[in-house]
Amino acid sequence: MFQKILIANRGEIALRVLRACKELGIQTVAVHSTADADAMHVGLADESVCIGPPASRDSYLNIHQIVAACEITGADAIHPGYGFLSENAKFADILAAHNITFIGPSGDHIRVMGDKIEAKRTAKRLGIPVVPGSEGAVSDEKEALRIAAEIGYPVIIKASAGGGGRGMKVARSEEDLLVALNTARTEAGAAFGDDAVYIEKYLEKPRHIEVQIVGDGAGQAIHLGERDCSLQRRHQKVWEEANSPALNAIEREKIGGICAKAVADLGYSGAGTIEFLYENGEFYFIEMNTRLQVEHPVTEAITGIDLVHEQIRVASGGGLSVTQDEVRFEGHAIECRINAEDPKTFVPSPGRITHFHTPGGLGIRVDSGAYSGYKIPPYYDSLIGKLIVHGRNRVECMMRLRRALDEFVVDGINTTLPLFRDLIGNIDIANGDYDIHWLEKYLAKAE
Ligand code: ADP
Repeated sequence: MFQKILIANRGEIALRVLRACKELGIQTVAVHSTADADAMHVGLADESVCIGPPASRDSYLNIHQIVAACEITGADAIHPGYGFLSENAKFADILAAHNITFIGPSGDHIRVMGDKIEAKRTAKRLGIPVVPGSEGAVSDEKEALRIAAEIGYPVIIKASAGGGGRGMKVARSEEDLLVALNTARTEAGAAFGDDAVYIEKYLEKPRHIEVQIVGDGAGQAIHLGERDCSLQRRHQKVWEEANSPALNAIEREKIGGICAKAVADLGYSGAGTIEFLYENGEFYFIEMNTRLQVEHPVTEAITGIDLVHEQIRVASGGGLSVTQDEVRFEGHAIECRINAEDPKTFVPSPGRITHFHTPGGLGIRVDSGAYSGYKIPPYYDSLIGKLIVHGRNRVECMMRLRRALDEFVVDGINTTLPLFRDLIGNIDIANGDYDIHWLEKYLAKAE
């Protein structure tokens, strides 16, 4: 087991990882920018190292500083959290060369899944259902027209190097397609330095359903069921739940089993998420994230399995703590992402929190680095906390969530709490009846 883990992240996820380390009796090192000197995880860590000025590229993305902090403190492993360096294959390779364990998959697995065309090809080879479309990159117009005619309109053009919902264009006709192909390539080239694009069938009303997996790197892997993350704004998830209101136990076992077998065959190590669009009873792979996800707590709530413990165990060579047969799904969990943003315009709202009171009671979990008097710096993303609620079934979970939202107080800044208080009273939300466009339409109506 590791003696000391350096946490290469900030905010709620740095605190989340720190808690797991403490439980396992592992020493912790926090790294932080000058803007985060007052952060809660910095105060709670055994040691802390300032790694640079506020801008992420000079601090949380600064590989040299982070490796130096590891060597100074004698940390033997790094947990990257999510975002920042968590899916940077070069970082994983550099750590390996320095004999520091990267708590995550190999650089090669990160690389394959970071390239969307390569990821899709690999998924297909491993028996994961994918969206019908081009086999690899498409460059000339003739080929694009032929493929689109084969799969049928509408189609979507996606950048191989894309991410965060950027670099995508929908085409509903041949004329559309020619324009979309050119703009997508130009945009992808400018944004990602790689103009490779591919085509797939555009699904009109899918849900976003993702499967959590953990592999031991030696050919064993389990799945921990799915999360439904269909409630999104600008491709950013807002509300996540497990299980998905749209799946039954048979479908769950089937897709979960396919994913677990695929990552076992790949020899994958660590936690990962296989993301699908789901429409008319069919799953279509869109990407794999080779890291812990923001929404992982809903899976923890219904399985009782601590995903960060599993990540650390696997990375240290200790294997998985559970077999697939031992995994049970109990009750229902929902996560609301509390952002420091105006709940109507979504304009970021950094600044001082004058009063911070979190809800409590049975089935309530709040993951947040915020506290009364904490000043949210303006340099990073606006997620300030996550409210995760568990109940024996979805109805109980929703009742408890409504109560918890009422108790939550954040004064001094704007937050998205009022949005969730509205959503909880909506009939479609109550019925679990929504697709990936539902929230955008709801927000447009409310304007
Ligand atoms: P990124 O890595 O940029 O997030 P994804 O491939 O995960 O890209 O897709 C992001 C979002 O774009 C999806 O959650 C979905 O809303 C939409 N999308 C992607 N592919 C399709 C498709 N074939 N049909 C319909 N919507 C799609």
